[in-house]
Amino acid sequence: MQKQFSPSRPCRVEDVPHWDSETDVVIVGFGAAGSCAAIEARRAGAEVTIFEVAAAAGGSAALSGGEVYVGGSGGTSAQRAAGFEDSTEDLFKYLMMAGGPGADEARVRVYAENAEAHFRWLQEQGVPYKGSYLPGKWLEPLTDDTLVWSGSEQAWPFSAAAKPAPRGHTAQHDGWSAGKVLMEKLCGRAEALGAAVHYSSRALTLIVGKGNEVVGLVVRIDGEPRYVRARRGVVLAAGGFIANRDMVARYAPGALTCDTQVSAGNDDGSGIRMGISVGGAAIHMDQFFATVPYFPPESLVKGIFVNQSGSRFINEDAYHGRIAHYVLRQPGGHAWLLVDEGIFGRPMIHRDMTIAAVGESWDEVEQELGMPEGALVHTVEEFNRLALEGRDPYFHKSADWLRPLTKPPFAALSYCKGDLPSHAFTLGGLATRTEGEVLNADGEVIPGLYAAGRCACGLPRWGEGYSSGMSLGDSTFFGRMAGRRAAGR
Ligand SMILES: Cc1cc2nc3c(=O)[nH]c(=O)nc-3n(C[C@H](O)[C@H](O)[C@H](O)COP(=O)(O)OP(=O)(O)OC[C@H]3O[C@@H](n4cnc5c(N)ncnc54)[C@H](O)[C@@H]3O)c2cc1C
Repeated sequence: MQKQFSPSRPCRVEDVPHWDSETDVVIVGFGAAGSCAAIEARRAGAEVTIFEVAAAAGGSAALSGGEVYVGGSGGTSAQRAAGFEDSTEDLFKYLMMAGGPGADEARVRVYAENAEAHFRWLQEQGVPYKGSYLPGKWLEPLTDDTLVWSGSEQAWPFSAAAKPAPRGHTAQHDGWSAGKVLMEKLCGRAEALGAAVHYSSRALTLIVGKGNEVVGLVVRIDGEPRYVRARRGVVLAAGGFIANRDMVARYAPGALTCDTQVSAGNDDGSGIRMGISVGGAAIHMDQFFATVPYFPPESLVKGIFVNQSGSRFINEDAYHGRIAHYVLRQPGGHAWLLVDEGIFGRPMIHRDMTIAAVGESWDEVEQELGMPEGALVHTVEEFNRLALEGRDPYFHKSADWLRPLTKPPFAALSYCKGDLPSHAFTLGGLATRTEGEVLNADGEVIPGLYAAGRCACGLPRWGEGYSSGMSLGDSTFFGRMAGRRAAGR
């Protein structure tokens, strides 16, 4: 009978029948973090072998918008060309706030200080950037422009803490899904530098030696387990766990309400489980990116969200992912976006969304939604009165997006649970040093084991603070660090 392997149970070196192959650095996963780890490990002179379970390169990153969150050091070439100066301190402050209560200051510092250089590095690997700026609110550019606002920079409370700048740098590509361009270039570069890639190869479990040192990997190729020795180390770059519903239920149950997985499908937590199996600590596992993408059209940002008590709960000009977290936790899963004729539009990616109520007055809308008498009318009247003065003292929505909702007919677009698909991927993962070494619960390094990307808990570790580009920025930047560190061991 064939031996059963589990990512949760490492294989002891004594149980390895023979070595099928040997290399310096083994990388699990050929997506954003894995490709960048491979490039740097090769540049450092290490022999590199990558095992990728899918039949092609790129992982979730190849399906993504390809937005990378960078700036600081006075601004990237694209930011400066568009007239934005972006200081390292402002980037640092924004990322600290975006990282939430558990932000890792050392990690944020090293990223903020090197993000602009990282952008130049991406260009050096061949990733094309047109350098043109697209103003407005977008999920991803619909054009081939490459610099966009991709977070909550201009929205309270972020705008009060750090000078805003657009930091979403998207690879040049006509329309959505620029991630495929980003990944073609990064994966192509890793292979051109001599990294050996094995596709349709699933990493099954780690191999450990004396002192719990990670010395290799068991990988399934053509249905057979292969024993691969890693002379210098193993880099886990296998993505997060949104595709593993048991893990989501155990660690991030809040994400169960999001029915669409933001993933290419292999985010099954196997990398994180392998890390845990040798003593790695997993942190911030409850955190996830979520979105209920309610714009474009950006006119909808001028609407107001209310809950079943008819009360507002967020400044609607914040990043759509932040708004999603507030929407998802409203009592009973009930939330509506109130709009008038002047701003009405159907959200671009949910054109068939439910319109829960329509009326010639806000009173009619309130009745149709079954809210307590006068509650909604009071909220809208108060909002309209202050919007006319260009103020929102309750939620601090910026004056640019304030406009009284006075033009009938009025409508409530439903963001209630069940009416609108919401999307998620996980942010928690293995605790690592900034350089990539996996840490145990005592904060000690597990020799021979490294992790990056959504396998690790990196810069993005608080769903409410997430901005587009933070995951790819983190995965590519810290993937590079992990590859370099493993190669230098
Ligand atoms: C539609 C979409 C849009 C997105 N847009 C953006 C964006 O614009 N900006 C942004 O920052 N983020 C975006 N994201 C999120 C981002 O793509 C991911 O968070 C990012 O790719 C994580 O990088 P990674 O290296 O950890 O994982 P991946 O890029 O997914 O790479 C992991 C690789 O490991 C492989 N793997 C998994 N398990 C095993 C195993 N046991 N053995 C071998 N191989 C394994 C997987 O097949 C995969 O190829 C988007 C995601 C999607 C799906």
